Order: sequence, then structure tokens, then C-alpha cells
Amino acid sequence: MPSGSARGSPRRRPPATDVVRPDPVITCIDCGGRAHLITPPTGDPEHPASDEWEPGDIATYRCEDCLDRWDLVVDDDDDT
Ligand SMILES: [Zn+2]
Repeated sequence: MPSGSARGSPRRRPPATDVVRPDPVITCIDCGGRAHLITPPTGDPEHPASDEWEPGDIATYRCEDCLDRWDLVVDDDDDT
């Protein structure tokens, strides 16, 4: 008899080969000042010390001039 294949198990995608790393400082969209990255990589909760970012992680910046907060989605830096 045909055995049902266990295809329904959730599985994480394999880690990307390219390391995604957001800039530690970006230019504030509002005032043109410097916005610093204030969040560590969130990649794997079981390995908080991991210095890896994954596409889809949220990188939070705070502007040192106007104190605005910016949440940027880490994305593959593809040539688009
Ligand atoms: Zn600003």
C-alpha cells in the first residue's frame, strides 16, 4: 500500500549563502541626519549571539537629530 509522504512538516529554509548585513548607519529620510541601527540581529532566537541577519528581519534605526525611528525590512541586496 502507498505510504503517505510526510510532506506537511514545517521546515525552515536553508540559510542564505550570502550574508545580509544592514548598514549600521543610514541617512534619515526626514532630516538627512544620521540614523543608527539600534537592534541586534534577530535571526535565530536560540542563538541570540549570532551576527547573522536574514531577509525579512526588521532593522530598527533611530535618528540622532530628530529622534525619529525607522523600521527597515532587511532584504536581499539584489541588483534591482
Ligand atoms: Zn532625522
